[in-house]
Amino acid sequence: MSRKTLLTIVSISLFIALASILWRHLTSTPFTSPIADVNMAKESKFAIVVGSGLAGLSAASTLIANGTQVTLFERSLRPGGNSIKASSGINGAPTRYQPGPPFSDSFFYADTIASSGSVFTSSSGDVRQRREKLTEKLVNDSAGCIEWLVKKGVDLSAVAQLGGHSFPRTHRGAGKTPPGYAIVSTLLNELKTSPLFKLQTSCVVTKVLKFGRKVEGVEYFDADGEENEARGPVIFATGGFAGDANGLLATYRPDLEGFPSTNDARPGSQPLLTAIGAQLLDMSEVQVHPTAFVDPKDVQSPVKFLAAELLRGEGGLLLYGGKRFINEMQTRKVVTDAIKTLPLAEGSPRQWDVQLVLDEGVYQNASSHIDFYIIKGLIRKTTLSELDPDAKKTVKEYSIAAAGEAEDKLGRTYFGHWELKSDEVSSESVVYIGRVTPAVHFTMGGVVINELAEVLDADGEKIHGVWAAGEVAGGVHGENRLGGSSLLECCVFGRVAANELVKYIA
Ligand SMILES: Cc1cc2nc3c(=O)[nH]c(=O)nc-3n(C[C@H](O)[C@H](O)[C@H](O)COP(=O)(O)OP(=O)(O)OC[C@H]3O[C@@H](n4cnc5c(N)ncnc54)[C@H](O)[C@@H]3O)c2cc1C
Repeated sequence: MSRKTLLTIVSISLFIALASILWRHLTSTPFTSPIADVNMAKESKFAIVVGSGLAGLSAASTLIANGTQVTLFERSLRPGGNSIKASSGINGAPTRYQPGPPFSDSFFYADTIASSGSVFTSSSGDVRQRREKLTEKLVNDSAGCIEWLVKKGVDLSAVAQLGGHSFPRTHRGAGKTPPGYAIVSTLLNELKTSPLFKLQTSCVVTKVLKFGRKVEGVEYFDADGEENEARGPVIFATGGFAGDANGLLATYRPDLEGFPSTNDARPGSQPLLTAIGAQLLDMSEVQVHPTAFVDPKDVQSPVKFLAAELLRGEGGLLLYGGKRFINEMQTRKVVTDAIKTLPLAEGSPRQWDVQLVLDEGVYQNASSHIDFYIIKGLIRKTTLSELDPDAKKTVKEYSIAAAGEAEDKLGRTYFGHWELKSDEVSSESVVYIGRVTPAVHFTMGGVVINELAEVLDADGEKIHGVWAAGEVAGGVHGENRLGGSSLLECCVFGRVAANELVKYIA
């Protein structure tokens, strides 16, 4: 092992150790506040937030900035939900960090609608209008969300172009800290300093209390297993159901039985809202991410580590038997569908044997991610000689297209930072490889909300005193969420929900 490699591994190990110490400190320090009794009336400017992912934290932060006391209930021991795992970044446009002439990206709305597909185009009437307004809100507030997070101290200065986007607009930090961790820890650290904030972890909300047309609180089991009640208006930010294999997923997508998931096991909380009259939509629209790593040390694991989309965005290609089979920059749905036409690997879970291949150029521009995957044994540095014999020819053709010397046969037009030249391709060319497979990743469906994050009943009327934001809600992404738009939805609608709640209790 060279001295440089050794130094890199040592510094990354130190970074990971430091990050985990910081995280343990962040999540183990008791969150104290002067709020002794959560059973407070609406007039006392008190709010309940359920779920400590980005949607819940964005809401809590906005509420506190408006002088509202917040109790945040989180079922897990540690806060952060799936948001803390986010590895590619958060979308925003137009922003000062995007390349090209300032503020030249005006295609975000069109890309989002295109990605929403037939679920969007085939809808009509009120539903269609709501989808349009949700998309407008998502896109129009995106640049503001990036600035909001940057002002709080989150570095979002690096921008990548992910599949389905016609412009680079997915923001992450320039350093090694993954975006989900950077955003969640910044918001949590800020909240922790506020006497208005109280976080109750290991508390499972089990019922929404509704009297007449108005929500007035929740029932929950606390960390000691005691049943309790908290009174106040509620923001629901409980995330999706991609980890609910035997519950909502089995009900709405039985065909996905046996697929691995990038989410840890967790029941969906949408039924708590349908119990008070909320409606559901798009529940069968489940995103299967095309590239989750198959860990060679634990091939059969049903929970997979995500191979961040930016690996493809930065220039990575996908091979089966040494050949490309799809434009890797297509949406997740298209890439997943293409993989599903390939022969299934043997055994369980249901997975395929696709190779993700990166060159030195991709590595240099995504080294913070790739070094981490190398340490975890999910990616290896090797040479083309190790791949299927057809791979050399495939990589040569890809390099020709990446250099702009010929059109790509599969229609790829953006090659990120791929730098291997066609005349340099040989058996000894250095590549980074990992085995990937599709995995259940994200649920587009959820409770029906409007652009004010109000939860709607069967008549399309808002249910007073309750809002929903983030993955728990449906209708924002149609049949396919663009990479980076989930963190964005959390930030946009978490803040919107909080602002509406503030008006409600004013
Ligand atoms: C590996 C991975 C990588 C990803 N990368 C990206 C990315 O780069 N960019 C992007 O935009 N999106 C990404 N996503 C998707 C994105 O992270 C999530 O969809 C998004 O963060 C959801 O946020 P949320 O706040 O709605 O829910 P979550 O972050 O999942 O938080 C919900 C919280 O609510 C809690 N909860 C649920 N029910 C209850 C209850 N009854 N009582 C109390 N608490 C409850 C849960 O325990 C959880 O902590 C990624 C997802 C995964 C899994």
